[in-house]
Amino acid sequence: MTTSAPDPALVDKLVLANRILHHQGIVDSFGHVSVRHDKTAGHFLLARNMAPSLVRRADIVTFDLNGTALDAAGRRVYLERFIHAEIYRARTDVNSVVHSHSPSVIPFGVTQQSLRPVFHMSGFLGEGSALFEIRDVAEDTDMLISSGPLGEALAAALGSHSTVLMRGHGSTVVGASVEQAVYRAIYAEVNARLQIQATALGEVTFLNAREAAKAAAVNDTQLPRAWEYWQRAVGPIE
Ligand code: MN
Repeated sequence: MTTSAPDPALVDKLVLANRILHHQGIVDSFGHVSVRHDKTAGHFLLARNMAPSLVRRADIVTFDLNGTALDAAGRRVYLERFIHAEIYRARTDVNSVVHSHSPSVIPFGVTQQSLRPVFHMSGFLGEGSALFEIRDVAEDTDMLISSGPLGEALAAALGSHSTVLMRGHGSTVVGASVEQAVYRAIYAEVNARLQIQATALGEVTFLNAREAAKAAAVNDTQLPRAWEYWQRAVGPIE
């Protein structure tokens, strides 16, 4: 199968996203970020199986929406590539996906609590987070989204939300761009920390739906400022 080469600037952006998410503490040796191919909507770009902080341009692989690598050339690929494949299939508005096990989010998934916007920076959580319970669709598993059907079930749980919590595992955040998905992954973690702290103090007044929508719209206009800062912090890529 042939496919046009992606825009080199998009590859650079994906490499940077890997480095930024590590620098911001969202991913460690595990977790991954992808972007939809700019020339073929049915393809996406994702690193080979490796720690995000080490990703270079040469490590980016192209996949189709079945999670099949088109140019891996024998390199190992992520077990959970189906998260990305099935979300791109289900959500034509999504152009970037971040999957992580960022720690502050975990308590919400295991207690069936929704992430809700504590402050303006997390307006994208206005409709709350969705929840994926893997036991609803499979017998006792290793918790990983390691097949197309599991990816499809996760995408269904995500629905129209920006964020889906995966009970006992992690979370997946989507965006219309790499910058937006990275922003949301970073602030989902910050919001989780703050929501736990606020809940411990007393009854929490969350942003209401309209406040959240307005805040999210303004924040989206500020993404270049955040990206420039994050990019500078991680330094040059290779
Ligand atoms: Mn995972």
